[in-house]
Amino acid sequence: MKSLWNDQDAAQFKTDLEQRVYTSRLLGRDTSLVLHGGGNTSVKLTEPNLFGEPVDLLYVKGSGWDLASIEAVGFAPVRMEHLLRLSLLPELSDSQMANELRVATIRADAPAPSVEAILHAILPHKFVDHTHSDALASIIDLPSARDRLTEIYGDRVVVVPYVMPGFALSRVCAEIFPKLVTKNTIGLVLLKHGIFSFGATAKESYDRMIELVDLAESYLQRHNAWQITYQKSSSSAAQVRSDIASLRSEIAKVAGKPMILSLHDETKFLAFAQRKDLDVIATRGPVTPDHVIRTKRIPLLGRNVQQYAQAYRDYFDTMASRSQRSLQMLDPAPRIVLDPELGMISVGKSADEAAVAGELYEHTIDVMSRATVLDAWEPVTPEEAFDVEYWELEQAKLGKAGSSKPLMGEVALVTGAGSGIGKACAEELRQRGAAVVALDINPAIVSQSNKKSFLGIQCDIADETALETALETAARRFGGLDIMILNAGIFPSTKRIEDLDLATWHRTMRVNLDANLSLLRLAHPLLRLAPNGGRIVINASKNVPAPGPGQAAYSTSKSALTQLARVAALEWGKDKIRVNVVHPNAVFDTGLWTPEVLQQRAASYGLSVDDYKRNNVLGAEVTSRIVASVIVELCGPTFCATTGAQIPIDGGNDRVI
Ligand code: ZN
Repeated sequence: MKSLWNDQDAAQFKTDLEQRVYTSRLLGRDTSLVLHGGGNTSVKLTEPNLFGEPVDLLYVKGSGWDLASIEAVGFAPVRMEHLLRLSLLPELSDSQMANELRVATIRADAPAPSVEAILHAILPHKFVDHTHSDALASIIDLPSARDRLTEIYGDRVVVVPYVMPGFALSRVCAEIFPKLVTKNTIGLVLLKHGIFSFGATAKESYDRMIELVDLAESYLQRHNAWQITYQKSSSSAAQVRSDIASLRSEIAKVAGKPMILSLHDETKFLAFAQRKDLDVIATRGPVTPDHVIRTKRIPLLGRNVQQYAQAYRDYFDTMASRSQRSLQMLDPAPRIVLDPELGMISVGKSADEAAVAGELYEHTIDVMSRATVLDAWEPVTPEEAFDVEYWELEQAKLGKAGSSKPLMGEVALVTGAGSGIGKACAEELRQRGAAVVALDINPAIVSQSNKKSFLGIQCDIADETALETALETAARRFGGLDIMILNAGIFPSTKRIEDLDLATWHRTMRVNLDANLSLLRLAHPLLRLAPNGGRIVINASKNVPAPGPGQAAYSTSKSALTQLARVAALEWGKDKIRVNVVHPNAVFDTGLWTPEVLQQRAASYGLSVDDYKRNNVLGAEVTSRIVASVIVELCGPTFCATTGAQIPIDGGNDRVI
C-alpha cells in the first residue's frame, strides 16, 4: 500500500478543511480502500457563529458525496456538543438519529451528515479517516479475526465486534473505545466492516491509514494470501448474446421491470465462477454491510432465476417475521450472477447500477480469494444482512423514490448515431433512462460520451459481420436489446434517371435497404426477448409518400425500406415487436447541411434561408431534436398499441396531406 501524499499538491490546500478535502480524495483514488460512496472522513474545527461566539463543529462527509471527488461543501458541519450528547443516549432510532444529525448542522444547505457522524465525534482526535479496505476485509471476515488482528497490530488498534452501522454502532464504540484505548492506539477496526485511523493533522491520520492497511497487506503476503493466481478450466463461448438475453428476460420477470446486465468474462471472473467450493463461499454473505444493497446478500449461482427469487422471498418472509415493522419487499432479482460458462454478470436497474455492482463484486472476489487461503470465510450473517437491506433509512428512501424514467433498464441501438437525427435520438433515449448502443461509420463515435449508459461502436452497417459483432458487444455490455432505431442512410448526389449509374443505385440500396434487412434479421432473436416487447423505428423520408425529381435511388430505397418495415410489423406482432416508420423532411441541422449548401439551395428556390427552412404548411422549422423526440416517444408506453404506422415529421407538406 503506497501513500499518495504529495507535498506540492498538499500545499495548495491551505486550511484544515482544505487539507481534509485533499487527503479524502487521496483515499478515494484507491479503489482497494473505498468504492462508490463507501468510507467517510471528518475534521473537528472551532468556528465563530453569527454572534462571534466559538462553536465546536464536526465537518463530516455528507451523503451523496464520493471521497474521490469531494469538495469542501461536501462536508456537513455538525455541532459537536449535540453529537456528544446524542452518543450518551441509551437508545435512538436511526430515523431519529438522521433527523437529529440534520438539524444539528449549522448550514441550511449542508448535505445530510454521514450516519457514522456520532462515531467520528466520539473519537478524540481532530482528523478521522474511515475506509472499507480490501486487505482488512480479507482478515476481519474470518472466525480467527481477533487473533490475527492482535498479531498484526497489538494494541495499536481497538477492535469492535460487528454491529450494524447507525446509532447502535456509535453507541457500542462510545462504550468500548475509552476502555481499550492505549497510548499506542492509532486506529479502530470494526469486525466485518472496516477500519478507522485518526491523528492531529490530515497527513498524520492519512499516513496512519496507509500504515495500518499496509501491515494487513504484508500479513497477507507472508501467508501467501495476497497475490492470487486465477486459473480457469474453460473459456466462455465466442457467442453468448442469446444466452445473456435469455437470462435477462428471466431476471426481468422476477424483477417486474427490465434490467441491465453486464458480462465480465476475463480470466479472474471465469476462474472464480468455476471454483469447486463456490457454493460454499459465495453463498455465505457479503464482505461488508455496505455491499448488501448494491450486490444483494448472495449471488445467483448458475441461471435458475426463478429458484433464486423463490429463495429470496422465503428469506424475506423468515427474516421479516422477526421484525416488528411492516416491510416492503425489494425486488427478488439477483444483482450478481456467477456462471461457470459465462463468468460474472452484474445486474442493475440502470447501466450505472450494473457497473457499480460489478465493481463491488470484483473486489469481493479479491477479498474472498485471499481470505479463503487463511481460514473459513465467515462474513455478515443472513440476519445481519437483512437488517441492513431492510434498514428503516433504506425503506424510507423507497417511499420517496420519484417516478423513474420511462425507458429505465432498457437497451436501445441507434445506427448513424454520430450526427444529426441519430445523435439526437441517442441523447433523447439516454435522457429517458435507456442504455444506448450507438453505431456510426465515423470512429469518433467511440468517444462521443463517457457515460456508463453509452456504448459507441464504429461500424459500417453494410458489413454484416460487423453488425453481428456489434450486437454481440451490445449484449455483453448491457444484456440484450429492446429498441432499435434504424437511422443510418446515404443521400447520393442528384441525378436524373437517364444519368443514374447502377453503381450509385446498388450502393444506395446496399446501405439504405440491404443493411437494414441484415440488422433486422440479426436483432430479431434479441428483440423477441425484450421484457416490454421489442420496438423498432425506421427513419424513412418524406420522399416515400412524396418523391422529388433527381433522387430515384434514394426515394426507391426508402420506399422499399418502408415496405420492409410494414412486413416486419405483420410478421413480428406475435413476438410483441412493434415496428413504426417516420418520414421527416427538411431537417437542416445535420452533417449534410453546411451553411453554404443551405444558402445555395435557398437561393435556387428564390427564398431566404429562414423561409426555405420553414417552407411547409405550419411554417415550422424541423430540427433533429424534434424528429428524435417523436422517434423515441414511439418507443415508449404511449404508443404501446401502435405498429405499422407511418408518421410524417415535416411541418405539414401539401403533397403528403
Ligand atoms: Zn463504514
